[in-house]
Amino acid sequence: MSIKSLVRTIPHYPKPGIMFRDITTLLKDPIGFRITIEALAQRYANQNIQKVVGIESRGFILGAPLAFAIGAGFVPIRKKGKLPAETIGHDYELEYGADRVEIHVDAIDRGERVLLIDDLIATGGTALAAVELIEQLHGHLVEAAFVIDLPDIGGMTRLKARGVSCHALTEFEGD
Ligand code: AMP
Repeated sequence: MSIKSLVRTIPHYPKPGIMFRDITTLLKDPIGFRITIEALAQRYANQNIQKVVGIESRGFILGAPLAFAIGAGFVPIRKKGKLPAETIGHDYELEYGADRVEIHVDAIDRGERVLLIDDLIATGGTALAAVELIEQLHGHLVEAAFVIDLPDIGGMTRLKARGVSCHALTEFEGD
């Protein structure tokens, strides 16, 4: 059994032409969930990561057990207006319109070693916005990790061009 084989593909969701890579089938499988977190934990266990930053909302599901496993704290990056204390935010473009992600100003201390995590990278727009926030708080971003990369869309190439080290457990061809 592989992580890739446990990801379900839903064609034309949420709109025509999109192949939605659904990780709920991976998460509901006890072995699948375990091997996913263990694969990430193994890579980052000895990297002295102090904060795992997860992007709402699937990044929370992966980031929280990963942080626990490697002895790091967990920090949420959320959509606009969801975090209760003082925040900084970053606006970014979507295919249609714009969005904004936010982080608490006291979530990361200057120089802390940070790992960014989300379920999937497509255009990289969301991850790049998260990188901006981590850098504004002067966190030291060790790597950005994803379960799934869609290399044909090029998000990881964009992140690497921005100087961010990246890692994905599996990838799917096409859009
Ligand atoms: P992007 O900012 O384009 O890299 O999109 C990344 C975010 O959108 C991630 O949080 C994903 O959960 C979600 N996403 C984008 N494309 C897909 C897709 N084909 N299947 C599942 N989730 C996607």
